[in-house]
Amino acid sequence: MFIKELTFECYQNTQYAIVERAINNYFDMLRYNGQILGREFPIAMLGAVFSTRLVCPEEESLESQFNSPQVTHALNKLTEAGLLAPKIKTIAEDLNSLECAPNFKPSWQVLYTTFLDTCSPLRCGETLQPIPLYRTPEAISNGDRKSVLKWQEEWINCDELQMNGSAVSAAILKEMGEIDSKLYYRGSNLSKRIQFVTKTPTYYYLYRVAGISLEEEQQRKCPSCGGDWRLDSPLFDIFDFKCDTCQLVSNLSWDFKK
Ligand SMILES: [Zn+2]
Repeated sequence: MFIKELTFECYQNTQYAIVERAINNYFDMLRYNGQILGREFPIAMLGAVFSTRLVCPEEESLESQFNSPQVTHALNKLTEAGLLAPKIKTIAEDLNSLECAPNFKPSWQVLYTTFLDTCSPLRCGETLQPIPLYRTPEAISNGDRKSVLKWQEEWINCDELQMNGSAVSAAILKEMGEIDSKLYYRGSNLSKRIQFVTKTPTYYYLYRVAGISLEEEQQRKCPSCGGDWRLDSPLFDIFDFKCDTCQLVSNLSWDFKK
């Protein structure tokens, strides 16, 4: 991941509120396309110049070839607000975040995230490293990748709640781990759409915790087809189960995993 500095200069008299709205809208549209990561972006004002630092998956993430129609529209709105096109400078590589996958066309990929993540939930099946969402050859829905980011936000919210032993944990664990949940329905549809546009088999991750015994958990079958799906050895120390028919992966219940 790369840290970028963006500066916006006013070319005409304008109002602070208009500028602020236009810049924040531009950031939102970049975020919904996977071109910048994170959710909060501080903006500094020095006279008629506004600046910010952003984290991008790749050094070239902000190149116009990756812009969604929404990003292009937001750039036009910056001009209308009295701002010149942003000047973009690379500050450094971010040491605090995951490196992108070395290959954006792996043999398989998986929709996977955790509460710690700010990176793309589309992960390379060979390395588990993130694949930037704007790299899909086509948009995922409505011109950009917002639907995937919204699914990820909900997953992260669920993960945080269940980690904290929330009163609604049972309902949340169903959302994260069972195939008759709304989160699964949305996520597996996104996986299918991503598979269609990337032509790469795209799996979906089901979270698993609790259970009665290690033996019982080891015998667990694919919840979709009922078939055997246990792997000989875990992948990335996370996935113990993988069904190639249903394109699902899961872990041995975290309660019994060493
Ligand atoms: Zn299956």
